[in-house]
Amino acid sequence: MTAVEPRIDTITVLNPATGAVAGTVPVDDAETVAAKARELRLFQPEWEAIGPQGRRKWMLKWQEWILDNKDHITEVLMAETGKSHWDANIEPTLVADGINYWSGNAEEFLADKNPSAHSPLFKVKKFTTAYRPQPLVGVITPWNFPFAMPGLDIPPALAAGCAVLLKPSEVTPLSGVEFVRGWTEIGAPPVLGLATGYGATGAALIDNVDYLQFTGSTATGKKVAVACAERLIPFSLELGGKDPAIVLADADLDRAANGITWGALFNSGQVCVSTERVYVEAPVYDEFVAKLAAKVRNVKQGQESGRDYTYDIGAMATGAQRDIVERHIAESVAAGAKVLTGGKPTGQGTFFQPTVLTDVTHDMPCIVEETFGPTLPVIKVADEDEAVRLANDSVYGLSATVWTGDVKRGERVARRLECGAVNVNDAMTNVFAFALPMGGWKESGFGYRAGGPNGILKFCRPQAITSPRLPTQKSELLWYSSPKRQGLFALAAMRAFAARGGRGSGRRG
Ligand code: NAD
Repeated sequence: MTAVEPRIDTITVLNPATGAVAGTVPVDDAETVAAKARELRLFQPEWEAIGPQGRRKWMLKWQEWILDNKDHITEVLMAETGKSHWDANIEPTLVADGINYWSGNAEEFLADKNPSAHSPLFKVKKFTTAYRPQPLVGVITPWNFPFAMPGLDIPPALAAGCAVLLKPSEVTPLSGVEFVRGWTEIGAPPVLGLATGYGATGAALIDNVDYLQFTGSTATGKKVAVACAERLIPFSLELGGKDPAIVLADADLDRAANGITWGALFNSGQVCVSTERVYVEAPVYDEFVAKLAAKVRNVKQGQESGRDYTYDIGAMATGAQRDIVERHIAESVAAGAKVLTGGKPTGQGTFFQPTVLTDVTHDMPCIVEETFGPTLPVIKVADEDEAVRLANDSVYGLSATVWTGDVKRGERVARRLECGAVNVNDAMTNVFAFALPMGGWKESGFGYRAGGPNGILKFCRPQAITSPRLPTQKSELLWYSSPKRQGLFALAAMRAFAARGGRGSGRRG
């Protein structure tokens, strides 16, 4: 986010790999955003009323549209991000998978719960918890996965029965246009809208929604949290990370080098859950570093003009992001780090060479700050304890990987790490597993996405409904018309409570 945003009414999007114009979008002002929000609210009650199965029908049509238009979506993604074909191609596939999961499970996840009464005095009542959707959910997304990011959060919100207004990043808004175009083209109820623009458009969106799902930097996330607090609307923040990898001496070093190369360089390292620090036990440090550098040197960088899969990774999404990567390396090298491979912009577009750094200390920018680029600083540690201590020594806590020949040991190490997800002998798996929560600890987030039923229920307001089980009389125990009964009720309630050891009898429904 820039401090002063340009006063223009159109954003022209460029391909960072080539400089070619990829497209334009309007900058929506506050009145336009408010009008779009009002329009979406009109159609939400009917969307809620058709129920999970009615919504699933539309969502599956939308999924079909995405699969039918996958090549075009991938081209748009490549054009506005500079991604390789491989990195772009995964996005529509992931979204199609998510639509299937959320629409297919919504009925079960949204089903009423009927908890039993905690006290015998309430046995005459039926208790129901119903899950009612937030009418309008705002979704603000970053530039690193312009199709997948809305695709992770919007399907569960739609499946819950909410209307949704998306504000994609100003850097990569064109994939967001495609995302919403698919919904419109299938003729679905108009409960998914799009607002394009800079941060001010995002701020206007917060002013008009009932729930905010934000993905972006920690710095912006803090401002967004304040704005939501001022309106007293609930929100979920998925923010930055500085994910560690721990390589234990008993690990399969070839697999670890392979997996960490992918975990760090996928999407040119522009992934919130990218591996950005590697801690290696001393006995295998030299061997591992040699294998890692060899793998990293083999990564093919470029952008295809056709539909082949020539390259592994593409360009950085912006020149500003490339400059951050360059600065982290330059400042770390000035402080004593060594570049084992890479270390420079290629000179073409915004491409930056995949880089391995050694002789790194724990106070260098490449270890402390989120780089969001293709860098792998590696640190030698004495043992598991030192690896865990250093891995936890960060303001971030998004996710981590542990590499070991002993899976049980990997799971034990996972529970010592201060972060929202740990993948043992793999990287990023949890992102693709919708049954698991994906959320950051510490400054990496607030709340989480996905996580089975909670991924849908977070977009709902639980509503308690009580109703009589038995034929009713003219008066109830607590009512003013029977003051004597009130005293009896209080006494009976206390006795019942005491008889149960003061614990109550309520079970989960
Ligand atoms: P950013 O914070 O600069 O922008 C994110 C979005 O917020 C954009 O759409 C932007 O226009 C909008 N915005 C800016 N100011 C706003 C304001 N005051 N009110 C409302 N909206 C505002 O982030 P970015 O540079 O686009 O993305 C990179 C960051 O996103 C990295 O830190 C990365 O780690 C993080 N990220 C996190 C996850 C996750 O799931 N945890 C996933 C992807 C990216």
